[in-house]
Amino acid sequence: MRNLLFVVSGPSGVGKGTLVKRLLADMPSLTLSVSCTTRAPRPGEENGREYFFVSEREFSSRIRENDFLEYDEHFGQWYGTPRSFVERKLKQGSVVLEIDVVGGLNAKRLLPGRTVLIMIVPPSLEALKARLYGRDAGKGEDMEARLVRAKYELEQLPLYDYEVVNDDLETALQRLEEIVKSEIDKEGDKR
Ligand code: 5GP
Repeated sequence: MRNLLFVVSGPSGVGKGTLVKRLLADMPSLTLSVSCTTRAPRPGEENGREYFFVSEREFSSRIRENDFLEYDEHFGQWYGTPRSFVERKLKQGSVVLEIDVVGGLNAKRLLPGRTVLIMIVPPSLEALKARLYGRDAGKGEDMEARLVRAKYELEQLPLYDYEVVNDDLETALQRLEEIVKSEIDKEGDKR
């Protein structure tokens, strides 16, 4: 048994949020790290559940206090992984981070032997576009920027340890769980 940091990345709209929720429900020993962001909550999102929604001023002061394991800017908003929470939880078990590829690669640099990078990919870019437009439903998020970013994220796939295609949700979930279980159960100390 190893305590690992599982980074689940993938383009916006790929369904990683749903997959991660199901993974955590099936494997209660995993802990989700809740990031901080300066972006506004989407309908249905709750402070402390999807994100801690903070002001830019608070985010900046946390950067100065070295409170983030990693942080990055997306679409003009800031996102960061709380360092002390992750370090504390890793002493007790494995932790899941749902963050972008830059954040994932940074996490791996900081905790190289304990980080497993998993990329959720859409069956095609067309399918991703359809999902993104469906989710936006007129809220006006910048679709072009999200698609450009999606292409960039998918190009980083060779740097990731695993790829999970999210075509059928149940199949993708099964694959994700297999990866997590086999990594946790691997012999040897991953440092
Ligand atoms: P969204 O606004 O759609 O929730 O997230 C936008 C992007 O920010 C996604 O790619 C998401 O994975 C990424 N993200 C969320 N939390 C973090 C974080 O703590 N650090 C980094 N680097 N990216 C994050």
